[in-house]
Amino acid sequence: MLALLLLGTLTAGVMLGWMPALLLTILILLVYLYRHLRDMAVLSAWLVAGEGGNLPAASSEWDEIFYGLERLVRRNKRGTARLMAVLDRFEHAAQAIPDGVIMLNEQGQIDWFNQIAAEHFDLNEKTDRGQFMTYLIRQSAFQEYLDRQDFREPLLMKSTGLRDTTLSVQMVAFGDQQRMLISRDVTQFEKVEAMRRDFVANVSHELRTPLTVVGGFLETFVDNRDMIGQADFLHYCEIMLQQTDRMRRLVEDLLTLSRLESAQNRLVESVIDMRALVQFLYDDALTLSAGRHPIVLRYDSDADVLGNADELSSALGNLVSNAIRYTPPGKAIYLEWGWREGQMCFGVRDEGEGIEPHHIPRLTERFYRVDRGRSRETGGTGLGLAIVKHVLTRHQAKLVIESQIGKGSCFSACFPPERVMLASDDEQNGMATA
Ligand code: ADP
Repeated sequence: MLALLLLGTLTAGVMLGWMPALLLTILILLVYLYRHLRDMAVLSAWLVAGEGGNLPAASSEWDEIFYGLERLVRRNKRGTARLMAVLDRFEHAAQAIPDGVIMLNEQGQIDWFNQIAAEHFDLNEKTDRGQFMTYLIRQSAFQEYLDRQDFREPLLMKSTGLRDTTLSVQMVAFGDQQRMLISRDVTQFEKVEAMRRDFVANVSHELRTPLTVVGGFLETFVDNRDMIGQADFLHYCEIMLQQTDRMRRLVEDLLTLSRLESAQNRLVESVIDMRALVQFLYDDALTLSAGRHPIVLRYDSDADVLGNADELSSALGNLVSNAIRYTPPGKAIYLEWGWREGQMCFGVRDEGEGIEPHHIPRLTERFYRVDRGRSRETGGTGLGLAIVKHVLTRHQAKLVIESQIGKGSCFSACFPPERVMLASDDEQNGMATA
């Protein structure tokens, strides 16, 4: 272009004289400059707007540049869209993680967190991004954990956002100086762990007393073998038998509980003849009571139950034996089979001393006893009602406990209608009550 201009100027200079030739060249240069400036202005306006739309066609060499820029912007937009999609997917995935996730930058400020983390640490989406982690979570154990800079083990701490919730938190390093705080709700796990500890402590405690008694007598025998008379010897043996019997009952109950809890132990069901079962329980009650209590039997229904005969017979038998053991002699006990509020219930009602209301929700806990001495005296293991509850739950049935101090208690096993096999004349009766 410049060579052409120079050549034109020289030719015009020779032909028209130098002055007009120079004037012509200046004119051409001005036009050329004007076009460049106009295209630059267009480009500048386009860049300032920053919308990345199409550029108008340029009239000079800028056309190529405009085209190149447009292509660059288009490619960039496509790349950004892809990146946004990836980020979006990542955010969705991180939101779906069942744990809390907080992303921190090199300075320890919060870059991002998911909904679960917001709940665990009471974080606010609008105000807490960019805040320092240590400023928001002010528990000393957490501060120490951060200061220690050893994140191989998680830290157990109380949630600052949820009540009565224990969290396991762990810092994970990633990228360049970035870190991620993962938080997991371990409340349930902690509870199970505490229950397991209590259970082991309780079993050990229950076994220790009979073992101490038996061990003590055996020691006495060894140390004084020549001084113990026949009558004393027999008496001690009887006490030892009672204690070993107590241990055997405890171990049997523990095994029953473990069998009931085992996932492999599926319920083998059949139709249970309830009239026969209730009669059997009544006979058993007469034997156990040995005439100490008036015992009344009432059938209000001929309905049967679908379930496991052995498990139900032992669970319902437990309610009967409890009534006999905890009801003072002379007070009556009633065994009843009938409809109650739409469910078929086997109720054992006694006129005993009754149970204070605050004990009632805890009676089915393992080893929970209202009167420890009375329970032991009568051969209780403290596991009876826990077993009953387990068995009934396996049958979708409920244990209903009602009691009034001074009046007596009623323990009922209530079966849902799905488990009840109605006799023909029972049908209307049952449905009407239901
Ligand atoms: P235990 O082997 O001690 O009888 P259970 O689990 O069968 O254990 O019962 C738990 C506690 O519930 C008993 O220790 C007793 O205090 C109370 N209990 C159960 N049945 C009755 C009842 N019919 N009357 C009064 N208290 C009862």
